[in-house]
Amino acid sequence: METQTQEGPRWELDLVNASFLTGIPILAAIGMVWYSMNYGVSGVELGIFGFMYIACGLSITAGYHRLFSHRTHKAAWPLRLFYALFGAGAFQNSAIKWCSDHRRHHLVTDTDDDPYSVLKGFFWAHIGWVMVAQEEERVEKVDDLQADPILAFQDRHIFLIGFLVGMVLPGMAGWFFLGGLAGFMGGFIWGGLFRVVIVHHATFLINSAAHTWGTQPYSTANTSRDSPFLSLLTYGEGYHNFHHTFQADYRNGHKWHHWDPTKWWIKGFSFIKMTSGLHKIPDKTIESRKMKTAYEQSLKLANDEQKENALGFVERLRTGYSELDAHRKALKEAKKNKAGVSSKSRKSMCIDLKKEIKASKEAIAQIRDEFQQWMNGLPAAA
Ligand SMILES: [Zn+2]
Ligand SMILES: [Zn+2]
Repeated sequence: METQTQEGPRWELDLVNASFLTGIPILAAIGMVWYSMNYGVSGVELGIFGFMYIACGLSITAGYHRLFSHRTHKAAWPLRLFYALFGAGAFQNSAIKWCSDHRRHHLVTDTDDDPYSVLKGFFWAHIGWVMVAQEEERVEKVDDLQADPILAFQDRHIFLIGFLVGMVLPGMAGWFFLGGLAGFMGGFIWGGLFRVVIVHHATFLINSAAHTWGTQPYSTANTSRDSPFLSLLTYGEGYHNFHHTFQADYRNGHKWHHWDPTKWWIKGFSFIKMTSGLHKIPDKTIESRKMKTAYEQSLKLANDEQKENALGFVERLRTGYSELDAHRKALKEAKKNKAGVSSKSRKSMCIDLKKEIKASKEAIAQIRDEFQQWMNGLPAAA
């Protein structure tokens, strides 16, 4: 599609970003060797590192990503302020700029307009795109974010806030807990320099590794992949195929056992009313999408009749889930409805409904089993 009519290279190095991204790891490495040789390392440096890693990391995943970019829930101002402060400390630009890039990434994934398209190479998606001055600064629709005074303020003073929160604050913590200039250096090196490198590359891995390695259970429409391993480093952001398929969901790991601390953080704050309107994609939608993707994969070699059959499974599964929903609602009603019903008959009604719920669950498991067996009989996808 792209016509290469320009003379010379279409990009040049962004000197500030490039020196920051290469300089900080070098400074961090030298600093850590120098510091540990002179002062050793205690639990305090590790504690400051840990606190900053969690505060800045979650400000990116829960704040910049799931709240500001995707609007998957609402958050009270103290939480938004926290994200603005520690997000700045992550040195990944202001929330407004970050979200503009990220919204475009979702809108035009894997195309030339995707700011970190993995099709331009692993290195480009990981870090190259930050080091290069883009010819034209394209801005996605972010007026909802510009209308937030906290984010507008953060955008105006991003480097000062980043320096104070991301570098001076851990240094001051070191000064306070360890004492003196040496203490300051300990906090600064561990909680500032080293932590910036770790949070940077954890975030970058989502744009590179989570578009390269892993499974595609929900969609094969783009390069996004699910990688539980990456979730360990990134507070749950590794379930990236799910996220690209259902970006309105506040969870990335949608099952309760999926390692997704970001979703637990967001959910946790809902109990004290600091977050609200947590958006969830219904299980039945997720499940039927998963089935559809599985059969699309295997069916590349199959005929129309087999395709028809697969859709039959999806339809049956949907019905199964609607029935389950209906029974659950009825049970909730029955528990509440005390007027005109004796407690004895209410009890037996509840028992009956619980049996129905169990039956619905078994029916769903049965459909899944049949589907799996049917899939096993298909020609494997090339
Ligand atoms: Zn996203
Ligand atoms: Zn992505």
